[in-house]
Amino acid sequence: MHVDCSCASRRVKGGAEARGNIMPTLVMKFGGTSVANLDRIARASKRVALEVANGYDVIVVVSAMSGKTNELVGWVNETSPLYDAREYDAVVSSGENVTAGLMALRLQEMDIPARSWQGWQVPVQTTSAHANARIEGIPTDNINAKFAEGMKVAVVAGFQGISPEGRITTLGRGGSDTTAVAFAAAFDAERCDIYTDVDGVYTTDPRIVRKARKLDRIAFEEMLELASLGAKVLQTRSVELAMRFGVKLRVLSSFEEPSDNAGTLVCAEEDIMESNVVAGVAYSRDEAKMTLISVADRPGIAAAIFGPLADAGVNVDMIVQNISEEGRTDMTFSCPVDQVVRAQKAMEDAKAGGTINFHDLVADEGVAKVSIVGIGMRSHAGVAAKMFAVLRDEGVNIKVITTSEIKISVLIDRKYMELAVQALHDAFELEKSA
Ligand code: ADP
Ligand code: ASP
Ligand code: MG
Repeated sequence: MHVDCSCASRRVKGGAEARGNIMPTLVMKFGGTSVANLDRIARASKRVALEVANGYDVIVVVSAMSGKTNELVGWVNETSPLYDAREYDAVVSSGENVTAGLMALRLQEMDIPARSWQGWQVPVQTTSAHANARIEGIPTDNINAKFAEGMKVAVVAGFQGISPEGRITTLGRGGSDTTAVAFAAAFDAERCDIYTDVDGVYTTDPRIVRKARKLDRIAFEEMLELASLGAKVLQTRSVELAMRFGVKLRVLSSFEEPSDNAGTLVCAEEDIMESNVVAGVAYSRDEAKMTLISVADRPGIAAAIFGPLADAGVNVDMIVQNISEEGRTDMTFSCPVDQVVRAQKAMEDAKAGGTINFHDLVADEGVAKVSIVGIGMRSHAGVAAKMFAVLRDEGVNIKVITTSEIKISVLIDRKYMELAVQALHDAFELEKSA
């Protein structure tokens, strides 16, 4: 991915240098709960004003008011379950337009020169992968020209961009985080502050485990795994981008006073002195396990199954192929529960087209994924064994397991998810720092 991050372009093209008042840039992102109503928008605006007073030109990235995007997604699903993703994007991107405009108005009321920017106006150039587009470039000229004219705050609608075909795209759920980091890279911002409803990144979701501990620092690699395994505090792509472009990324609360608010710094592994073997526990609640019963065990069968699933936009996660008997086998995979209908259709179509043959397709829509993550696992044996023993002691049956160098994930019945997260957090003593 290429993000136009030529910091020079801002200073030269923006003309601020010519006026002798180059201001450092700060990106501040406010999530849904931080802009949930007009009072919260006012509160967030005050925080922006503080940074303007500190001498920054500020790029604010806003989410939709909390609950809004879910409502819009619900409307799309109700209207068209196998929706055209271009129209999905047209609908679900709209929540951010409202908050961007309102925040700009609020700042203007405070005598701060502010202007809102929708994705296409910047323009935030993305791929055409609707509902899950990637940012390809962010030209800085338009916003810089406004900074040069005296604008102090650009309020950017997060989560959205424009495809090469000129249609509105969205970046996947939680995508405003990625908008924020991409702007920080493109504008060579001093920092990217992600304001949310918790005061940092914790050892696990503090809403599930009361004893979860806030981390002062977390390594990019660990944050990347935690995010991709369900810790929605940051979108995975935003962590990837921050790592790649060396963006100084901080997660902090929009509800605390600025002085109490150091948050969590996401940084390089070398910048962390001590860390536990397991850094955190993540979960993903809404998973489904699908099993194709009795498919022919022949070369090319996996491609014949997973090709059509990918083409249908199904995000397959874990895969298990069972032992084959008499040339036939069962193939199990997991995917987000809201993609089950899509997956079923893709498999039925492939069967009708004669590319695969199976006896039955069984969907278990009641599963969740629980994972432990830590760079310390690279050098410690026995972590997986301990995880499995903890789950055994709680009477939790493991349906599927996957591992990588720094994480272990299991698929279990959803009703045991919170119990498993809690038990693992206790067993690995994550409430204590190393
Ligand atoms: P925003 O609307 O600000 O983008 P999100 O709801 O997307 O906020 O993300 C913040 C939420 O992430 C928290 O309220 C918390 O419940 C959840 N969360 C999950 N895992 C973690 C974690 N390890 N640390 C902190 N928060 C977490
Ligand atoms: N509003 C979008 C969502 O809820 C994007 C975001 O908040 O980051 O997914
Ligand atoms: Mg979020």
